[in-house]
Amino acid sequence: METSSAPTAIDILQRVFGYDSFRGDQAAIVDRVVAGGDAVVLMPTGGGKSLCYQVPALLREGTAIVVSPLIALMQDQVDALLAVGVRAAFLNSSQDAAERERVERAYLDGALDLLYVAPERLSSEQTKRFLGNGHISLFAIDEAHCVAQWGHDFRPDYLALSELADRWPDVPRIALTATATEATHREITTRLRMENAEHFVASFDRPNIQYRIVNKNEPRKQLLEFIRAEGAGQVGIIYALSRKTVEKTAEFLQANGVNALPYHAGLDAGLRQRTQARFLREDNVVIVATIAFGMGIDKPDVRFVAHIDLPKSIEGYYQETGRAGRDGEPSVAWLAYGLADVVQQRRMIDESPGDMAHRRRLSAHLDAMLALCETVECRRVNLLTYFGQPSQPCGNCDVCLTPPQVWDGTVPAQKLMSTIVRLQRERNQSFGAGQIIDILRGKTTPRTTQWGHETLATWGIGQDLSEQQWRGVVRQLLARGLLLTTGEYGTLALSQTSPEVLSGGRTVPMRSEPERSKSRGGGGARRAAHPELDPRDAGLFEALRAWRAAEATEQGVPAYIVFGDATLRQVAAERPTELSGLDGVTGIGEKKLEKYGAGLIGVVTGYEGE
Ligand code: ADP
Ligand code: ZN
Repeated sequence: METSSAPTAIDILQRVFGYDSFRGDQAAIVDRVVAGGDAVVLMPTGGGKSLCYQVPALLREGTAIVVSPLIALMQDQVDALLAVGVRAAFLNSSQDAAERERVERAYLDGALDLLYVAPERLSSEQTKRFLGNGHISLFAIDEAHCVAQWGHDFRPDYLALSELADRWPDVPRIALTATATEATHREITTRLRMENAEHFVASFDRPNIQYRIVNKNEPRKQLLEFIRAEGAGQVGIIYALSRKTVEKTAEFLQANGVNALPYHAGLDAGLRQRTQARFLREDNVVIVATIAFGMGIDKPDVRFVAHIDLPKSIEGYYQETGRAGRDGEPSVAWLAYGLADVVQQRRMIDESPGDMAHRRRLSAHLDAMLALCETVECRRVNLLTYFGQPSQPCGNCDVCLTPPQVWDGTVPAQKLMSTIVRLQRERNQSFGAGQIIDILRGKTTPRTTQWGHETLATWGIGQDLSEQQWRGVVRQLLARGLLLTTGEYGTLALSQTSPEVLSGGRTVPMRSEPERSKSRGGGGARRAAHPELDPRDAGLFEALRAWRAAEATEQGVPAYIVFGDATLRQVAAERPTELSGLDGVTGIGEKKLEKYGAGLIGVVTGYEGE
């Protein structure tokens, strides 16, 4: 097929893409497809799926047909390829007839290495006949989980892709997805007719993401401290549950100098689209959003994802945090959660429509999420175990970095429970956490006087703990199902398992609550984003970012298409003053060297700051 002088996969990787080595399974996957075999690839977001078909596309004769469901992303994918000198184009409904015709001609002339096509197009006989008139090197089916009917992104058009196997039995097919569950994997294999494929299942770990979960007291202030500690001017996404919180938070951050923009389904469609475009194209936008934001967001340089409300499930949380650090650079997933979150979510489940089984499922999801929040073991081990992948403590989560103090909370738990029992038995009353904590701490308020709670036997028996600590006790008992909340007001009640604690048959180890003054928003002084950047190089790095922003604006492409952060950081550290000094800098292949080399050197030599 290829002569001995033909380029190898590694040549292409280095010369075209400017990377020195393949990651993980990439090399094996590329070999498989180049040799004409089928492959099913499960790799987490940011794992580097694109190269798995882009490199074979450049090694096999003909044009690779890439099926991609996200029309909005095709333009950026094609721009990124053009920027490294690869002949790529797309066909979708956003084009006019003339543009379509130009692309079709290029395909028939064999002038394209890759052609991106929307799935609905490939299901038409006309398109298939047209493709048959050219030379197809391979089919890449991106977001392959869309074929799974039980998945969350099912698209009927994907079902028609099974026909590719019959029509082009000799053309290799590669199906790729970031969805981890086994059920989806099986469905992809059968529905896409990939019976003879080799399967590549990567670890779903995202080692460059630092997971941190902090206790929520003043969420906006904590968030701002976190953003400042991570380095202002970074790209980030902040998730909140309600539109109101989204708007309030965005306003607050703007007032404090953060380039924050709100995004939720209640905003006008045009505005939403402009906000998304700015997020993609600029390199310092922080989006504050409901979960409506993010599907198909393919921005590689998101440095943090923050949650200021508790996510409803680990799946959702992992998918959302996975939008950080696709470029493999250090990034942070930060979550603030508190007692009110637990109470609110339990209430939402109680009030949710649907049958008992449905509510039990929601409860199970929430319980797993709460267990992650309250764990005294490595967060990553907890997450990966959830996805069926055992692992060792990671050294890059808040628990590993600053192991929490664990204390025996059995006696406080008993005091709290007996207060609830007494109120119930002696007075036929139930109350929320606030009133019960006031009783335990013996704090007289108009409400305790009104109800005569000073005469309860448990009045003031919990003065050894601060209010903050008591809230932590309540939260942890709720999180473990040792207490329940009921009704509209979230009043506390015993659960089925409470008697085990009350009778002394079960001890309750607890995480200690950091005192308010010490609870830094960042959850630690360590700055996780760009840790390798020597402070002395930070000024030059910023100068390079400014240059990149100007280049990107001029060409109308996202900043990351010019260069990723890793490239700029390496340049800032090595300070090359001649073109030859850019040799071996990651992300600089032949085309980009030619196009931007002089510009980069110019920034370095012109930089005078410290
Ligand atoms: P995925 O599609 O799996 O989410 P991408 O293909 O978008 O991931 O790759 C994520 C990032 O990693 C991109 O910025 C890409 O250029 C980079 N990347 C992928 N493979 C390599 C590699 N072998 N060496 C260096 N960078 C890589
Ligand atoms: Zn860890």
